[in-house]
Amino acid sequence: MFSEKDDIIIRERFDDLLNACASICKKPQDRDFIISAFEFANKAHWGVRRKSGEPYIVHPIAVAKIVVSEIGLGVKSVVSALLHDVVEDTDYTVEDIERKFGKKIAMMVDGLTKMKKAGDLANNSSEQAENFKKMLLTLSDDVRVIIIKLADRLHNMRTLQSMPQHKQVKIVSETIYLFAPLAHRLGLYKIKTELEDLSLKYSFPNDYAQIAAKLSETAASRDQFIEKFNRPIIEKLKQNDIEFEITGRVKSIYSIWKKMQRKQVTIDEIYDLFAIRIVFKPTAVVPEKSQCWHIYSLITDIYKPKPDRIRDWVNIPKANGYEALHCTVMGPDGIWAEVQIRSQRMDEIAEKGFAAHWKYKDRGADQEGELDKWIKEVRDALNGPTEDAVEFLDEFKLNLYTSEIVVFTPKGDTRTLPKGAIVLDFAYEIHTNLGNRAIGAKVNYKMESLYKELTSGDQIEIITSNTAKPKVEWLDYVVTAKAKQAIKSSIKREMDNNIQRGIAMFDEALKKHRVPPSARVFRKILPVYKCANKEEFYSKVGAGIIQLDNLGKVLRENATTKLIKYWNLQFSNTIKFLGNLYHSPSSTSNEQSYKIAECCNPIPGDEVVGFKEDDGTIVVHRKDCDIAIKQAAQQGDRIVQTKWSSEKIISYLCTIELRGTDRMGILLDVSQVITSQLNVNIRKLYIESHDGIFEGYISLYVKNRQDLLNLMNKVSSVKGVESVNRVDNAIVNERTAG
Ligand code: MN
Repeated sequence: MFSEKDDIIIRERFDDLLNACASICKKPQDRDFIISAFEFANKAHWGVRRKSGEPYIVHPIAVAKIVVSEIGLGVKSVVSALLHDVVEDTDYTVEDIERKFGKKIAMMVDGLTKMKKAGDLANNSSEQAENFKKMLLTLSDDVRVIIIKLADRLHNMRTLQSMPQHKQVKIVSETIYLFAPLAHRLGLYKIKTELEDLSLKYSFPNDYAQIAAKLSETAASRDQFIEKFNRPIIEKLKQNDIEFEITGRVKSIYSIWKKMQRKQVTIDEIYDLFAIRIVFKPTAVVPEKSQCWHIYSLITDIYKPKPDRIRDWVNIPKANGYEALHCTVMGPDGIWAEVQIRSQRMDEIAEKGFAAHWKYKDRGADQEGELDKWIKEVRDALNGPTEDAVEFLDEFKLNLYTSEIVVFTPKGDTRTLPKGAIVLDFAYEIHTNLGNRAIGAKVNYKMESLYKELTSGDQIEIITSNTAKPKVEWLDYVVTAKAKQAIKSSIKREMDNNIQRGIAMFDEALKKHRVPPSARVFRKILPVYKCANKEEFYSKVGAGIIQLDNLGKVLRENATTKLIKYWNLQFSNTIKFLGNLYHSPSSTSNEQSYKIAECCNPIPGDEVVGFKEDDGTIVVHRKDCDIAIKQAAQQGDRIVQTKWSSEKIISYLCTIELRGTDRMGILLDVSQVITSQLNVNIRKLYIESHDGIFEGYISLYVKNRQDLLNLMNKVSSVKGVESVNRVDNAIVNERTAG
């Protein structure tokens, strides 16, 4: 039970919450409502402790505090946050909540309870995905439920230290796979950033610590630079009677890490570690937009702007509501610096997401429309024909895109699409029928194919034909969930029609030959027509792909169809590991069968994570492999902590990519470095050169990561070689095929 000390902690935390709620409590009843929710939850969780040892109730209190102070939601959300674990963890039911706090609160708590179950109770991937799906369905009821869930996740991430390690991996994976993108999509930048940073801290503790140390090491000189950079700006803005605040902000550790991964560079090579932010107070007479550009003009009087680095999210806000004017200018000592210009209103929206839009309802009415539009999209996707929950989740993820482009309709209306979107995505974005009938497009008045990738600023006019139909191949090219759903349902409809037609045609044909339909008939004809099953056969008949002219001959023929089996040769990666392994408590054997994942091809020295297959085999991925992160989020129960044993002397297949300027003999030099100097085996080599540039892939066997790094170093010192990167083995197979 709780001691007096526990009681004091609880009172202190709750008083702190009540203080934070002062501004949202408009009526005295509001305060009473919050107090009664606290008392109810406190009683329900009484005597229970968190893994950290604290009384459980400090968690709901902390979540409620995030909801009010860091997101800016109101009384109902605070009450729901206080009650969010009551139904799941105690004997109270949703009905009890409804009786005491009313229908609205009960609905929100119910939503939060379902979401909690989502993560915890899943036994397999489809169950977990199904639960995620249920959780996302609550989006269409009340977005606040999702926001409170994000606050809950944030607090759990902040206190992750006290969780056992296998639980940490699962929670971190879910966070990076789903919750951080969700926070981004709702415009909750601060929360998104913190979730990402915390994820990195637990998944790559060394990388995290290194970057953090480097940032604090360079803090003094950076502050000096920022001071020097800001001084003339401050002076100039004051001369122009602008009320403002200027700050220099270091970018998040996660975003720096991401950039290092993406560009394969060290932290010293990243020049834009920080950004200058100017938040101004709007004047009554000049519109905010003009003020942004005025400030931009004053700054560029002092520092030269980089022409291709202006981001105008004032005229066209991001789909999640973000507004600001960004530019990069050449500061003192020839150092580029990013400057972000925002009004106070824009700043609040950027920090607290769309919750802030409500506050500025009168002025930012359009933004709310944007959010409604997105929720409608999600709802459409949820009502789409996809039955498979895992597939659904992947497609939903597409809707949480992080980079966006803005394109124009022929009439000059704007549409926001994810980066990488093609002409077809645009067509489906406008209307399903437009997509279904599309045969091509004019992009900026020039004829282009349906697969043409769009860039910001493109104007697109779709060309249609009344006889056009969606094709299965389209699914390989489109990127938006909306287009995928529409193409799938159209193809399914088409196939259903074909099957109906095929059944009728086949029945007719059989009657002509006086043969009754039977299983034997199908056994005989399916191999002849190369169909896997009846459905395929019917639909091909209905579509006119299979002609039934020679059916009589086929039926008369003896059914001794020659069977040819194709066997694929596979490179076997299965190896046995001895000792020195960590695995989840459920596993008892010390010796396990392992398989190296082909998607990311980890080698000794890489940080790895394992997943248990149904047959007990453990598939080992690199920790930063996208597929592994996804799998950990969807099948948390399969995670196995995995480490390399140090005694292995096996060679691993790796692929490196080379780029550089071509010269006579360079190939010889490169291969000499690889084979004679370091004594490793080349398995496959592929080099292509054009216009004085060469590009190549080399697959080779190495013993461990250090070998590979040494080798890459040596190769990059060959004259003419500009870059050497490690890539997926699959790339070289793909590029060199055929
Ligand atoms: Mn909770």
